[in-house]
Amino acid sequence: MPHTMIKKILQARVYDVAVETPLSRANQLSNRLGNEIILKREDLQPVFSFKIRGAYNKICQLTPEERTRGVIAASAGNHAQGLALAAKKLGIQATIVMPATTPEVKVSAVRNHGAEVVLFGDAFDEASAKSREIMAQTGQVYVHPFDDLDTIAGQGTIGMEILHQHEGNIDAIFIPVGGGGLIAGVAAYVKYLRPDIKIIGVEPEDAACLKIAMEKGKPTRLATVGIFAEGVAVAEIGQNTFAIAKDTVDEVITVTTDEMCAAIKDIYDDTRAITEPAGACALAGLKSISSVKTRKDKR
Ligand SMILES: *Cc1c(COP(=O)(O)O)cnc(C)c1O
Repeated sequence: MPHTMIKKILQARVYDVAVETPLSRANQLSNRLGNEIILKREDLQPVFSFKIRGAYNKICQLTPEERTRGVIAASAGNHAQGLALAAKKLGIQATIVMPATTPEVKVSAVRNHGAEVVLFGDAFDEASAKSREIMAQTGQVYVHPFDDLDTIAGQGTIGMEILHQHEGNIDAIFIPVGGGGLIAGVAAYVKYLRPDIKIIGVEPEDAACLKIAMEKGKPTRLATVGIFAEGVAVAEIGQNTFAIAKDTVDEVITVTTDEMCAAIKDIYDDTRAITEPAGACALAGLKSISSVKTRKDKR
């Protein structure tokens, strides 16, 4: 399994649409925490998130026949925009089902990339069911936001970039976890080459679907999911993502909404960029571990 995933990551097609984002040192944070803290600036992607990597790689792997059928997904967030842009780039028709409650700016961003938007239901689950129903009629190809090996491989190119961009020592990489596509791709690649680097998954305490899966030994559905960090508000970790994460992730930690808000401010102070809560989640996790360490070291 790791071997085939490494191959897929090395062969992933992402740079037709995605950019190699910088790794930038967070100066104030590094000074304050007495550690070297480096941010991987995926917010600088054309759609403001890494989702473009997985979506583009996934649809690049479709056969010519599948491409003519078009693609479909349900998403209110970054996957919708990533898939819409990826499909436009390849001249493939895309339909995105979004909950009717999705803010207008997000709907128009997806429409501007040329995708057809269907508004349905109040929440993600209803939009998702609707997308399956439409797919059954139209024969479009379903593009999952995380639980697909080609999507995981696309996200894994971030791990590849981190290792060749940073020459010095790396103790740990903190990664936000929604359905696990990002962490599975990055962890598979990094653990293969540099098993000494700790991979730490970070989840909001009220959306900790990887944590519960690690405890139970299998994907387990959360009864309720907090939606403050919308990008990682997922009730159940993926089957494929969990199969990789269980062997490659060293630790899963949780953070509170307050900790994510503080991390948004920290990132703003260092970069003048305003991150969405899901993006700040990883830094919130780093800060919580680093404060534990500092306390211990002082003894
Ligand atoms: C999708 C997303 C995540 C989580 O990625 P998964 O592959 O679902 O674990 C984290 N942060 C942002 C900004 C995202 O868009």
